[in-house]
Amino acid sequence: MKHLNIALVAHDGRKDELLSWVKFNATMLSKHNLFATGTTGRLISELPVVVDGKETFPFKGKVTRLLSGPLGGDQQIGAMIAERKIDMLIFFWDPMSAQPHDVDVKALLRLATLYNVPTAINRSTADFMISSTLMANADYKPVVRDYTTYIERTLK
Ligand code: PGA
Repeated sequence: MKHLNIALVAHDGRKDELLSWVKFNATMLSKHNLFATGTTGRLISELPVVVDGKETFPFKGKVTRLLSGPLGGDQQIGAMIAERKIDMLIFFWDPMSAQPHDVDVKALLRLATLYNVPTAINRSTADFMISSTLMANADYKPVVRDYTTYIERTLK
């Protein structure tokens, strides 16, 4: 079983939706390493999941919490992506509210695109991703463009 590093982020207007998705997929998600922005991570850690009629907290102490998004958490996830430490990004951003850290949101999505990280920006995409057979394929590596020419370019 391949343990993926999965980053989870939800804006306030989408946190309910993300928690509902996490609850529905709790069994699968608890097999992986979870990272989240501060508040999203706290809510996931505290999320009750009923198993065989009993309330459990499968993510208690299991989520690596970064800073809250507007306080730098999105940037921390972006940096982890650039360091190739994140395999998957679940980012339920809110298209109906202006965010104080809009530039950070854009930067995070840019790096996820640059490094070809599978990214779900809504629930249906997250459903397709988590049910993909590639979740368990240890050989799958996203192809990332070779930027050597760019890095080694000569400047006059
Ligand atoms: P939060 O950050 O999980 O700390 O609320 C999410 C975000 O707005 O990026």
